[in-house]
Amino acid sequence: MVNQERLVNEFLELVQIDSHSSKEGKIAKVLVKKLEELGLEVKVDDAGEKVGGETGNVIGKLKGSKEGPTILFSSHMDTVKPGEGVKPVIKDGVIYSDGTTILGGDDKAGIAAVLEAIKVIKENNIEHSDIEVVFSIWEEGGLFGAKNLDTSKINAEYGFVLDSGGSPGEIIVKGPAQDKVNAKIIGKPAHAGLVPEEGVSAIMIASKAINTMKLLRIDEETTANVGVISGGEATNVVTPEVNVKAEARSLSEEKLNAQTQHMVETFEKAAADLGGKVEMDVERMYPAFNVDPEDEIVKKMQEVFNTMGLESNITSTGGGSDTNILNSYGIKAINLGIGEKKPHTLEEHLHIKDLVNAAGMVTELIKIFAK
Ligand code: ZN
Ligand code: CA
Repeated sequence: MVNQERLVNEFLELVQIDSHSSKEGKIAKVLVKKLEELGLEVKVDDAGEKVGGETGNVIGKLKGSKEGPTILFSSHMDTVKPGEGVKPVIKDGVIYSDGTTILGGDDKAGIAAVLEAIKVIKENNIEHSDIEVVFSIWEEGGLFGAKNLDTSKINAEYGFVLDSGGSPGEIIVKGPAQDKVNAKIIGKPAHAGLVPEEGVSAIMIASKAINTMKLLRIDEETTANVGVISGGEATNVVTPEVNVKAEARSLSEEKLNAQTQHMVETFEKAAADLGGKVEMDVERMYPAFNVDPEDEIVKKMQEVFNTMGLESNITSTGGGSDTNILNSYGIKAINLGIGEKKPHTLEEHLHIKDLVNAAGMVTELIKIFAK
């Protein structure tokens, strides 16, 4: 059913189209054409104008021949850097880059799987309910495409995000919410040799705060990290300003609220103790999602993997994806493994077998929802 050669060729074509985040104009054009040729009604929304990107999200609709819930497939078009000039290499059934760039299977493996599944549906006249496809922009580093998705164009009840590293069979039902916790710590400059007692060291405030902060693994659902510290120019000046960038995540929004509050209070207390000030910039980057493993969407997914002879594995993730945002729109969505191995590295690779199974999985999903 899935045509492996056609699928691999399509994947190789897609990874060779440059599409760093916000620079998805070229690949969007190609995908609009491909979806139209497959008979979908295609629109590009205005997310690109809102976030300063080359294009908006590509949204395709395929009218169904049968009653059933509208199902949505979602993959992102952008890649991390260095992702320009990808030269894919196939070795022993595995697709790699040439080692100088990422491969871009994150998330073009998902896109290729969706396109192949629609081809299979079409050429075999397989009955299906309404299908929606979203190829989003700028997922990496902010989920900006999904956050600005024109939902007035979407009717889906169930969403399947094809964007996880596990092999097909992996079903991600939970993902954390994330807070950005940035602190601008303000001390008071003074000559470090002549009158240090007149200064307030922002570096000492930062260090006191971080030293007393609960960080890294907080509990099985919650994590926190200080990732960037910048400030200071010379050793002979008591440092007047330091910027600290941190994050916290939790599968439980309640626990996340508590952790974020703890981090804010710790910065504030250290600043007060040492006579400085702190300006906090805290933002919820995305909400958590939590789909009941007993839900219909998971049952159907397990049925799909049963049919394919693949083992299903229900799990959670520590990362954010478009799945978080689709759920916040009231679309019940899960994230599915498509075999992206070592994403965001020069060693990124994809087993052809996983790619074929990903396309098969989408095909079976379409069939099962029209039953
Ligand atoms: Zn991805
Ligand atoms: Ca990624």
